Amino acid sequence: MFIGHFAVAFLLHYFFPMVPLWIPLLGVSFPDLLWPVFIILGVEIAHFDSNSPLQKNIDFTYYPYSHSLVLTSIFAFIVGIILSFILKDITVVLIFTIASTTHWFLDIIVHNKDLPILGFSKYDKKVGFGLWNYGWKAFVIEYLFYALITVIFVRPALVLDLLLLGALFHIANINTFIAFTKKNPFAFSKYSYPIITLLGFSLFIIIATL
Ligand SMILES: [Zn+2]
Repeated sequence: MFIGHFAVAFLLHYFFPMVPLWIPLLGVSFPDLLWPVFIILGVEIAHFDSNSPLQKNIDFTYYPYSHSLVLTSIFAFIVGIILSFILKDITVVLIFTIASTTHWFLDIIVHNKDLPILGFSKYDKKVGFGLWNYGWKAFVIEYLFYALITVIFVRPALVLDLLLLGALFHIANINTFIAFTKKNPFAFSKYSYPIITLLGFSLFIIIATL
């Protein structure tokens, strides 16, 4: 999932306006900022199908550090504490950790059964409800979710801008839902997809914070 995560950041910002927006934005993105770095470093494993651009066909073989419910939330809590110290605001750790944890709960809706719960046991369970298997439905539902929260919880003056921004990034991501290309344009190297993910999340955070 991509833009759907940012909607949760807007929601958190509505309830905790004293915490700067970039904190929940960074929090909801945290797992997908860690993941590309861990893939590039070889700490986590994913296989990209060169014959399919679909997200559902990415084989997320091993990503307990960036995408488990428990372990990733612990990492988020540690990063949150550091951010709390920097910003001298204890609320930051709470917002950052909640934001990061919601990433897992939204990801399990779309992913196939590949998201670990604990992240550190060999008896760990993996979950996922597989909405990505229904291309157009998944595409529309993610945008509707983003739009609904944006319309309800974002300051009226910013609603249109953020709806457009979300639409732009979502459309840029459409091939991973619908497969307009038969080949995966980002499977030419094992680093290309992680780098695109990193750029996508970073760019959205920067633009939405401006
Ligand atoms: Zn994710």
